[in-house]
Amino acid sequence: MSVTEPGAREGGIAPKPRVLVVDDDPGNRYLLGNVLDDFEVEVAVDGAEMMERIAHAVPSILLLDVMLPGRDGFQLAAELAGDDRYRNIPVIFLTARTDPADVVTGLELGGYDYIKKPFDEAELVARIRSALKRSTERQRLAHDVIIDPHTGLYNRRYLSDFIKNESGKIKRSLSDFAIAMVDIDHFKRLNDTYGHQCGDYVLKEFAHVMRTCVRTYDLAIRYGGEEFLVVLPAASRNDALQVLERLRAANAAHEYRYGSIAVSFTFTCGIADLADIDPARSVFDDLIRVADERLYRGKRNGRDRIVAVD
Ligand code: GH3
Ligand code: MG
Ligand code: MG
Repeated sequence: MSVTEPGAREGGIAPKPRVLVVDDDPGNRYLLGNVLDDFEVEVAVDGAEMMERIAHAVPSILLLDVMLPGRDGFQLAAELAGDDRYRNIPVIFLTARTDPADVVTGLELGGYDYIKKPFDEAELVARIRSALKRSTERQRLAHDVIIDPHTGLYNRRYLSDFIKNESGKIKRSLSDFAIAMVDIDHFKRLNDTYGHQCGDYVLKEFAHVMRTCVRTYDLAIRYGGEEFLVVLPAASRNDALQVLERLRAANAAHEYRYGSIAVSFTFTCGIADLADIDPARSVFDDLIRVADERLYRGKRNGRDRIVAVD
């Protein structure tokens, strides 16, 4: 899923929200262009052009006519709702179709609003602003549900969703797939020595280092207090090993400084990939179990190591 950070860019003037108007009537497009002068307005004449524009840049909101040549507005809204990349775009239907059944259809398809033509200009602008506000809030909530607030990494909840959605695909494709379980060494000692707040700082900073080391399509998850899980789609054991060795080197080179305290620490890691398990069974439970066993073997054998085989 894609979640865009709501709100204005830090430090600058908030960019105008981008409204994409999809309407086959040139008069309507012209009129809307004039009415919406507080917004950056783009226009499309049909679904094909709409899709092109969205692929190029995702708009803040869509004003969607229902009667269009080719796919109609309802079909287009359903298409967007089924697409991970675009399902968060708020849609307002703006149409001459005033039948209550159409209004119901539009709202059931997830439309934020349904406005009948001819529209009142001030009301249209107010409804657009209201929809934008609700959409921003909804995205913020969606973001908060899946992100660990302290580190900004994904949380366990997101991992469960990912497992639910991806296990079948992984079993079917049987292409490479690896996970790495990471646990900071002697973290309790670090807390006891420098204080819990310094420990918090270290976790946050370590998460940042981790994000810079994983590949764009890997998932870095805060699994527990000072435990992390990296999910590496399409990675073999050796690919995963490379990523985690990179993290190990980056962590050793990183300057952790909390006030006047310079801190350094190591981690231990267990890696598992599909060759370690029977993919006919529950892929993730078994991968996590094997990675966990290897992690604990690494701990027993002296910590500060990556264990990728039995
Ligand atoms: P080991 O090398 O065996 O992993 O030792 P350890 O001390 O890292 O592991 P242990 O599981 O004994 O202790 C983990 C510590 O992490 C205990 C807990 O208080 C601390 N911890 C967990 N979550 C947080 C957190 O959010 N912030 C801070 N500061 N400490 C945390
Ligand atoms: Mg630990
Ligand atoms: Mg632990």
